[in-house]
Amino acid sequence: MSAAGEPIDPCAEVPGPPSPTKSGRVTWGLLALTLLAGAALWLWAAHELWRSTVPDGLRLPRLNPSHYFSPSFLRSSASFERFLEIDGLLSTVALLAVLAVYARRGERLMRESAAGPIGTGMLLGMLGFALVWIAQVPFGLAAVWWERRHHVSHQGYVVSLVQSFVALGSKFLFISLALLIAMALARALRSWWWVAAAPLFAGLALLSTFLSFYLIPETEPLHNPATLADARVLARTEGVPGTRVAVQKVERFTTAPNAEAVGFGAARRVILWDTLLDGRFDRREVRVVLAHELGHLAHHHTLRRVGWLVLFLLPAAALVAYFTRARGGMARPEAVPVALLVFVVIQLLAAPLQNIVSRHEEAEADWSALRATHDPAAARSLFRTLAITSHADPDPPSWSYVIGATHPTIMQRIAMVQAWEAFTAKMPTDRTQNRRTPSPSSPVPPTRPPAPATGRASRHGAPALAPQ
Ligand SMILES: [Zn+2]
Repeated sequence: MSAAGEPIDPCAEVPGPPSPTKSGRVTWGLLALTLLAGAALWLWAAHELWRSTVPDGLRLPRLNPSHYFSPSFLRSSASFERFLEIDGLLSTVALLAVLAVYARRGERLMRESAAGPIGTGMLLGMLGFALVWIAQVPFGLAAVWWERRHHVSHQGYVVSLVQSFVALGSKFLFISLALLIAMALARALRSWWWVAAAPLFAGLALLSTFLSFYLIPETEPLHNPATLADARVLARTEGVPGTRVAVQKVERFTTAPNAEAVGFGAARRVILWDTLLDGRFDRREVRVVLAHELGHLAHHHTLRRVGWLVLFLLPAAALVAYFTRARGGMARPEAVPVALLVFVVIQLLAAPLQNIVSRHEEAEADWSALRATHDPAAARSLFRTLAITSHADPDPPSWSYVIGATHPTIMQRIAMVQAWEAFTAKMPTDRTQNRRTPSPSSPVPPTRPPAPATGRASRHGAPALAPQ
């Protein structure tokens, strides 16, 4: 036995360690307890992030698309979207095939590198993504061809290639930074690097969410006085007064309309694509778009998205740590090609769950817009015009909805308008409303539905308005 701080003589006889069986049991017990506590914390956080101001148990009526769209539009929009979805699926198969081959053979390339372990790992990461980009070029060009054929895009093929190559640069930057963090932590913490890496990645996501407006090209302030006035009133109504609105110039590339809400705090912005302001949408419809995007900001969807990202990254990074053990763990560059494959597979598997979260928040933004504008006719007309101008299938098949839909379908969005009308009609009058009146900073019309029990939530580069 030695006193605290007293060096231990390695030759002295000391009591032996507990028997391997007992010690093993204690270690496994502690590990199981930690995992249980972690899982409980994870579930609690997910529950908090899931909260919504859409009333519990709101039933959406099942609407018939043919009452809103012509048979020829339903046929052509379905065929338009199926092509893009199949193109996307093939592109995913190519992505997985390239990454699987790279995971098996990529480590051979490291022998040529003299950049040190972390430098070599970063080089392997960038090379992997360059190969992925090359493999996906044909599918990207096929999508441009299809959109041009349907007059949704007028982007040139060369411009499209250049743009995707520029986008690759930012992916390289992200991959390099992520690998640098993971590999440096793995050298210090060995297989537990992911515990420290997840909050660091979350910090980076928070920073990029804050800066997102400044990273969007070709934006200018909104000048239209009527739209500006609407935005000012709606921002006050939704409790995010002073939110600035910008216009992004995309008309050269696409005819599809869109909008998004980005950032938080002083850097929060609503961005309208100029294709939304070219006369195809009237003032009331644009007002609904503004209210929807302000709804994302009012319910903190940009921040909640960072929260969801942390919840995703914790188990994802743990699985990357687990599957790279055979290559010596993330401290070793030869583990990088395997790490890329594992991370991409986890992302693909998690996509349907991420879509559920995204649709949940989109529904809340739609609900928020209805409460702020009190204009269900404009909302209905907006969703219909959005479908027609972006050639979106209003009622896609279930498989496509589960795999790829980040927004409720157009028919679900129209159904929510109907549900809001029914909900508002049932609202009790004056006394109840007064009790539920929100703070003076967010005045609301007298017939507005009850104030939400809570409002919170997340989203990085809050989803665009148009259906996916
Ligand atoms: Zn949205």
